[in-house]
Amino acid sequence: MCYYEQYSMPCGDWKWGNFRAHCSKEYRTGETCGMKLVWESIGLPDNCKYCIKIETKRGKIRKEKERIKRWRQEGNRRASISQSEEAIENMEREIWDLNEQRASVRHQRNM
Ligand SMILES: [Zn+2]
Repeated sequence: MCYYEQYSMPCGDWKWGNFRAHCSKEYRTGETCGMKLVWESIGLPDNCKYCIKIETKRGKIRKEKERIKRWRQEGNRRASISQSEEAIENMEREIWDLNEQRASVRHQRNM
């Protein structure tokens, strides 16, 4: 077991930071083992990159939905609406992918 810094982010995700110390068992070999322990937890001001991307896409979806609402009131904008709905669908798929990635890299070093 070896000790690392841990960065925690407001979104609730966290990642490993710099290596800090060997545990007594690994000290002799001078190598780091696979087991990581928290040396110190450091709070970061920003969400992880996945949550930031997801948040940006959610904002865009909100805007598209507002546009659709406006177009519905205007009438005669069916083409724009269906285009916009398609864009929303794509972004929702991307959010789903980002959530998958976020779950799979969770607690790994390169987040
Ligand atoms: Zn996050």
